[in-house]
Amino acid sequence: MTQKITQLQAEEDPRLTIERLQSRVLELEDTQQRVEASATDTVAMAEDLLAARNQAQEALKKAQEYEETIREMALSDPLTGLANRNEFHRRLEEAIKLAKREGNFVALMLFDLDRFKEVNDLFGHPIGDELLKFVSAQLVNVTRETDTVARLGGDEFAVIMPNVDDSNEVALVAERLIHDLSQPVTLSGSMVQSGTSIGIGLYPRDGEDIEGLFKTTDQALYEAKREGRNGYRFFDEAINEKSRAGRILENDLRLAIVRDEFLLHYQPQFLTPGNDIIGVEALVRWRHPARGLVMPVDFIEAAEHNGLMCDIGRRVISAACRQGKAWEEAGLPPFQIAINISPRQFQKDDFVSMIKDILDQTGFDPKRLELEITESVMMENTDQAIEKLHRLRELGASLSIDDFGTGYSSLAYLKRFPIQKLKIDRSFTQNLTTDPKDAAIAEAVINLGKCLGVEVLAEGAETKDQVDVLIDKGCSRFQGFYFSRPVAVEDFVKLFSS
Ligand code: C2E
Ligand code: MG
Ligand code: MG
Repeated sequence: MTQKITQLQAEEDPRLTIERLQSRVLELEDTQQRVEASATDTVAMAEDLLAARNQAQEALKKAQEYEETIREMALSDPLTGLANRNEFHRRLEEAIKLAKREGNFVALMLFDLDRFKEVNDLFGHPIGDELLKFVSAQLVNVTRETDTVARLGGDEFAVIMPNVDDSNEVALVAERLIHDLSQPVTLSGSMVQSGTSIGIGLYPRDGEDIEGLFKTTDQALYEAKREGRNGYRFFDEAINEKSRAGRILENDLRLAIVRDEFLLHYQPQFLTPGNDIIGVEALVRWRHPARGLVMPVDFIEAAEHNGLMCDIGRRVISAACRQGKAWEEAGLPPFQIAINISPRQFQKDDFVSMIKDILDQTGFDPKRLELEITESVMMENTDQAIEKLHRLRELGASLSIDDFGTGYSSLAYLKRFPIQKLKIDRSFTQNLTTDPKDAAIAEAVINLGKCLGVEVLAEGAETKDQVDVLIDKGCSRFQGFYFSRPVAVEDFVKLFSS
């Protein structure tokens, strides 16, 4: 120590030493303050940390909740809460794997609601949604807990039944579902009646993997729908054969379009008394190179199903207008030519402009063109349909409703449609003398026509009795075998002169 002081003394001025020590004290005070401040900071930091941790935990909990919701959304259909298409695939895969191991069946059922579109259009989408919820509740109700009920989209539902021992078990469920779903229900105060068609396929019998099973089950569903509403159908070899035949038919139809194998027959329409010909209906035929003359019942549906009907339909309209012009030039008196328009054809955006182009090209008088639409056209995109019909009327064409009484027959829509004629379906005409209900329907349509100020024509009159009853009820326009069958162009002029 003495040595140090001596050193200091020897080296430094004492005043400097004091200054140095003072600044050292200040430095230390500053450090002390800083340490104190940082201690406060540390406490605050700890508090902040705690809050941050709580927040993070909260956020984590929320994120987990979101994840759960997202996962559920990815697996289920938001409207009905049923499994969606993805989840359906996963569960079907699982069921097939299990069945492979255990050696039993998996049944797949595919559903298509009858008249769902009509319900939607007629009662509005909220009731359509309620119907879907009602259907899903019924499906869940009738199936087992181990079954999967899924909504694949729109009005398509599916049920997977794993662990099935035989097809009877599945048939029972299908029967019960058909019964339950065809009952009328009240949804938001409106009475709605739907129904369902069901196609059924069994793994491994009808398909060895998801794709195979789905395809055959879908074919069974198509068959069930074709056989009429409210039915179920198992896939079988006959369906397989049919679908093979369907593919051949489709191929032939494509060739027929290229080779222009379609022709028209014409069935005259008569006005009583006097039996003047007031019009003709153009009816398409297909001259098949091997099968001979094929009737519409044997190919129209397939053509419609395969999207070929628009092409065929355009050829029909064109040929009929050309024929009409030729008859006019040959000096035949003017009469209407009625042409059947398929729903798909009518729905095409360019339908009206196509008609206009054909009229321009052929020079056929639009006033003599009558377009026959079906009631189903009224039910789909109603406002758009009405707008189109008005544009057709502006062109000069007239409009009729074909097969009236066989569809939804909504009177409210009928009032809004600018139509000139109702054609009583031949199913009513033909049973008129034996079934009082059909007679009542025919009479109702005749009176409806009077009220709405539109013409009524009875189709399919085959006997004098039928014609007499209809005349008695106030009908004066007829088309039927009693008057004339559809005839080829060559025979038509002869028929006219007689
Ligand atoms: P539709 O429009 O109701 O035509 C009347 C059908 O009833 C015709 O059958 C006609 O031959 C038949 N028919 C007429 N009078 C009688 C009768 O007294 N007794 C019986 N048993 N039948 C009678 P066709 O020619 O076989 O046509 C069937 C259906 O095919 C038509 O029914 C129509 O819906 C459709 N169709 C025909 N041609 C065309 C077409 O060019 N385009 C479209 N989209 N459909 C067509
Ligand atoms: Mg027709
Ligand atoms: Mg008809």
